[in-house]
Parts: sequence; structure tokens; C-alpha cells
Amino acid sequence: MPVCEILSVGTELLLGEILNTNAQFLSVELADLGISVLRQSTVGDNPRRLASAVKEALERSDILITTGGLGPTADDITKEVCCETLGVKLKTDAEILKQLEDYFLNRGTSMPESNKKQALVPESGTIFPNKNGTAPGFALEKDGKCIIMLPGPPREIRPMFLEYVKPFLSKHSDGIIITHTVRTFGIGESAMAELAGNYLSGDNPTVAPYAKDGEAMLRIGARGKTRAEAEALCAPVLKELLEVLGDFVYGVDSQSLQESVVNLLIQKNLTIAIAESCTGGYVAKRITDIPGASKVFQCGVVTYSDEMKKIILGVSSEVLEKHGAISEQTALEMAHGVRLLGKADIGIGITGIAGPGGGTADKPVGLSFIALSDSSSRIVEKVEVLRKSDREYNRFYTASKALDMLRRYAQEFNESRKSENNNERRHN
Ligand code: ATP
Repeated sequence: MPVCEILSVGTELLLGEILNTNAQFLSVELADLGISVLRQSTVGDNPRRLASAVKEALERSDILITTGGLGPTADDITKEVCCETLGVKLKTDAEILKQLEDYFLNRGTSMPESNKKQALVPESGTIFPNKNGTAPGFALEKDGKCIIMLPGPPREIRPMFLEYVKPFLSKHSDGIIITHTVRTFGIGESAMAELAGNYLSGDNPTVAPYAKDGEAMLRIGARGKTRAEAEALCAPVLKELLEVLGDFVYGVDSQSLQESVVNLLIQKNLTIAIAESCTGGYVAKRITDIPGASKVFQCGVVTYSDEMKKIILGVSSEVLEKHGAISEQTALEMAHGVRLLGKADIGIGITGIAGPGGGTADKPVGLSFIALSDSSSRIVEKVEVLRKSDREYNRFYTASKALDMLRRYAQEFNESRKSENNNERRHN
């Protein structure tokens, strides 16, 4: 099984001026080809440092893919440095020179002198045409090693890779790597890893935990000669992990928390209305991001002031005075009020302190209450976010908690509850 490295060239990458999306794109595509990526690295437009990065990469890996630095300017040096490293000479390619001249003629200008440099191609090797720019890509093969040089702009590298480089590389690969992601909410990364136990030390498939945006995930990757073989290796492990992680799991692969909520509500034929304070409409936004949300989403209201909580949702002055706006009681009255307002099966009420200011010893920043009301029951949950000073995270995480509460409710919901809801709506 060949191993590969990706070397991104460009000082602007090191300065953080652009995000290295080429490396991500290539890694995904290489996995699809069954080629393992050993390392991704980045180097500036400096010939000495580029040359040593190329040499080191070739000592470790069979294939090196570079991106960037194929343009016409003096700081575009990738081709020159790679050819020198492998001892391959450059020559002018008459056909490419003609294509470059035509490219500029079609745009109503003559070709700048500096662009002639782009018609220089390695004396031996493969040329990948560039249909979206002026710099062709190249592959050089020597002593069992291969360097593939690709242009920097994503709109050039992507079509070039898919049309020319992928078929070229498929001869280096004898398999495919597939991955599945198990997505959970409500369990920490290390607790999840403990449940995954021995699977984490497996070799094929591999199982790796990671955390993102307050959620913990497990990535299962398997390598096989065919997709079917790799899937067959994954399947029993995936099944077992889903069982072990139980209802912490909200989705597999790309399904988001909100997508899983909307799908469940559609399946169970339930409608919702949402009243938000500290999350400022985040839950409503995430639900309405999902196509099909109109089947389940009646309304969302953002009631920030006490007065609006009273006028729009009917929260009582008594509750607000006695318990305050950030309280279980207020969240419950918000949920109840919005359910009636939206004529929905379920009402959600969220009230809390997003910060960074406004917290007290009793009610610190990051504290919120999330309530759910239906025709016969009310649930309320107290949430305390750990990353207290991060307003954006507080709001996002609190919204995720509300979505997760909805998901769990909908998962457990059965039809007899639905008829109770309908009866109550008829009486209202
Ligand atoms: P050009 O002919 O445009 O000069 P090039 O192959 O020399 O192409 P660079 O000059 O290195 O490529 O980069 C051109 C542009 O492509 C950058 O300004 C940036 O916008 C984009 N780019 C370069 N490398 C990357 C990368 N790794 N990820 C995403 N975008 C990139």
C-alpha cells in the first residue's frame, strides 16, 4: 500500500492569509483511492526550505503531492525545485507555449514574457492539462518515487485532480479507504472513548474519537480491496458501537443534530413552536436550515425583555418577580405559552445568561434553563456551560442542548401521546 505526503507551498498559507483547503480536498480524494496520507506540511516560497522539505518527504513516502508555486512569477519555484531534486531537466514545450499564447489572445491581450516560464516542462514525466488556468500540473517518477505538482488555486487543482490525476494515481493503489462517523451528544469525548474500549486499538478498521462544537464523535475507517470489502469490515464494529453508545448517538456520517430532530419530528408527525431568549433564535435557525422543516416548525419567537415574555407568551408577572427571568419556572411558562401561541404539539422555552457580563453568584454566565411542554407533561433542564466567557459557544451549546432534548423526546414519543395532544388542541 503506497504512502503519500501533501506539501502545500505558499508563504500566504504560513501567514494565515488563506486556509489550506487544497490539503483537505486531496486527503479526502486520496483516501477514496486507498492511498494513505502520512503527513501534510506547508512551506513558504523559499527555494532552500522547499528543497529540503521535498527531500525529507521523499525519504518517508512513495508519493509526494505539492500544491502551489507553479505560476509565472519569480516566487513560483515548485517545478524548478522538484525537478532539480530528482535530477530532471526542464525544456520548453511548444504545444503548451502555443496554448498559453492562445489563452491570452482569447482574453484580448498578448502573453507577458514571464508566462513563458509556464511552458517549461520536465523532460520526462506526465503533464496534466489545466483547463481553468495557465499552469499545467506534472508527475515525475524516478527510483520508485513519484512527485506530483499541482497548481494552487482551488478552482484549478480540483478539476485537474479529478480528471487527470486520479486516474493516473489509481495505478499506485490497490484498494480503497472508507470512513463512517458516529455522532453523539451529551457525553464527553473521554467517556465516549472509554465506552468504545478495545475498538480504539484496532488496526483495520481503526476507530478514533474526536470532539467538535460540544459534540463527541467516533470515526471508523476501514481499508479494503473494494468498497464492499471495506464496508464489510466496518459494519460489525459500527453496529456494536451504536449499541454501546445507545441514545447518546444522534446520527451517523453527515447527519447533524438539527437534521436528526427534523427527521424524527416528521416521522412522528409532531409540530413544534420555540420561544428563545439567550439563544436569540439559534434553535429556530438551525431547525429551519433543514429542508422539510416547514412540515414541523410552526413558529419561533425571541422574547428578550420581561415585558415581551409576558405579552407574547403569557409568562406571569408573579413568576418573573418571584423567580426571575432566568429560572425553571420562566422557561416552563415560555414553553407552555409558545406551544399555545403556535398551536403546536411541543413548545420549547429557553432562558439563560449568554455573557460575558450579567452573571451573579447564584446565576452565573453560561447558566440556562430549557423547558419542553406538551399537552400532558412538562420537562425542564438546567444547563451550565463550561466555557463560560465565550458568548458564541454558550449560545451554540445551549441551542444544541435544546435540540437534543427535542430529539430524545421525539425518539421516545409514541402514538397514544399524539392523540392526547390532539384532544387538548380541540379543547383549546
Ligand atoms: P498562479 O498561477 O495563480 O500563481 P500557483 O500554482 O503559483 O498559481 P499560488 O501562487 O501558490 O499558485 O497560489 C495562487 C492562489 O491559490 C493563492 O493566492 C490562493 O488564493 C490559492 N491557494 C494556493 N494554495 C492554496 C491552498 N493550499 N489551499 C487553498 N487555496 C490555495
